[in-house]
Amino acid sequence: MSDIGSTANPLRVAIIGAGPAGFYTISNFLKYKELSVEIDLYDRLPTPYGLVRAGVAPDHQKDKSVTRAYAKSAEQPNVRFYGNVEYGKHLQLEDLQAHYHQVIFTSGAPTDRDLGIPGEALQGCHSATDFVAWYNGHPDFADHQFDLSQESVAIVGVGNVAMDVARILCKSYAELAETDIADHALAALKESRVKRVFLLGRRGPAQAAFTPPEIKELGELEEADVTVPADEARVDAISQQYLADNPDKNVEKNIGFITEYSQRVITGKRKCLTLRFLVSPTEVIGHEGHVAGLKLAKNEIYATAEGDIRPRATGSEEVLEAGLVFRSVGYQGVPVAKIPFDERKGTIRNIEGRVVDEAGQALTGLYTAGWIKRGPTGVIGTNKTCAQETVARMVEDLAAGRCFKPVAPDVAAARALVQERQPEMVTYADWQKIDAAEIAKGEVQQRPRVKFTRIRDMLAILGN
Ligand code: NAP
Repeated sequence: MSDIGSTANPLRVAIIGAGPAGFYTISNFLKYKELSVEIDLYDRLPTPYGLVRAGVAPDHQKDKSVTRAYAKSAEQPNVRFYGNVEYGKHLQLEDLQAHYHQVIFTSGAPTDRDLGIPGEALQGCHSATDFVAWYNGHPDFADHQFDLSQESVAIVGVGNVAMDVARILCKSYAELAETDIADHALAALKESRVKRVFLLGRRGPAQAAFTPPEIKELGELEEADVTVPADEARVDAISQQYLADNPDKNVEKNIGFITEYSQRVITGKRKCLTLRFLVSPTEVIGHEGHVAGLKLAKNEIYATAEGDIRPRATGSEEVLEAGLVFRSVGYQGVPVAKIPFDERKGTIRNIEGRVVDEAGQALTGLYTAGWIKRGPTGVIGTNKTCAQETVARMVEDLAAGRCFKPVAPDVAAARALVQERQPEMVTYADWQKIDAAEIAKGEVQQRPRVKFTRIRDMLAILGN
């Protein structure tokens, strides 16, 4: 091994993006006890934790407990957090090459996929991920407006994000008021007139992307009945055969819940949540510039030559009335300045986390992990093994002498540069003050925290 990584000459790593993949990069590096490493963790927001803060649903507080482990990593003496510092704006690739041996991009998938159907630009047609970011208090979404005076809402897609959105729309004010949901969202949802929520899956119950705990929760809502049309809850013959050949406990559990919901009697709760299957929106219908409904094509299931189970239109159509539409068909990665990007996959071009060019040649010193490496799949913990793989490649490359040759590989030089470029950078100690202030505000209202949703308010706590 080169002497980089020794106590006298620590390996210097910059991580771009302080979400789960960024933190699991740190914890994986810390497992290499013989390696001396100095890590700087950057995020464009003043707050760390990425989608654990801005994506995980406010009524799923337990899922946020991973931040305790992340905090332990951030508090290590060889780790620094630089929040409110944006790669491509405050720091360029050349700056990082001058101060670090290796750079890893863990910037996630910040936008979403669209449906590609007419009418999507109509008022009242939104991305579910925008709604999620809004109710979770992401500063970029604090000014978004959602017309919750509508009685009927359609959510396209049946993944876990769709489940989260459906739950938040169906929960009572009292249930939401116990969470760390953003105050602006709590106020808007208090006035909500939503009565009917439709979740629309283009394939059948056996292909639903949600997981059993999430579908189970829908059946336990205090304020909403849940129902599934009996004919759509039935598993078709092709899917039954597929399941017989490829048994899957989660799919079986999902089908069990769906079957049970299809047999439930509507009890007359304030709201009703209907799960639909085998329907694809083909057009968002408008009235005077605003969403009025969705044209739905009825689908059937078929198996491709490769054995995939796909939907295809039967020719039968219907119109679903809805004043608000959320598309929830997956997050989408965006290109990172000066880093090769695979537009089709929406990921940084990489092999096992090593950034590669179009010819598949690894680019020295550049790495990636998390959703921007593999696409928006898996749960929070999936990022642990994802980061582990990349860190293993980083350590291998270091041993082979493949890394940047920085001119100023030291902590103070990088910190001075960051301070010069972004005087309002936020350290981990600063974040702890913001965190403490949010928790203190929450205690008064018996909530986990009350989030700051404006960067200026976060900085004001720090006396900036
Ligand atoms: P997802 O799991 O990929 O689900 C996307 C859904 O959209 C699928 O039902 C998909 O159907 C459907 N879809 C895609 N294109 C469509 C189209 N053109 N028309 C109609 N439907 C379409 O994505 P996600 O819900 O955004 O979740 C992202 C990741 O975060 C997932 O891994 C999820 O499990 C995770 N997550 C986890 C939790 C949790 O653990 N509680 C919470 C939120 C998110 P097809 O299957 O037919 O493509």
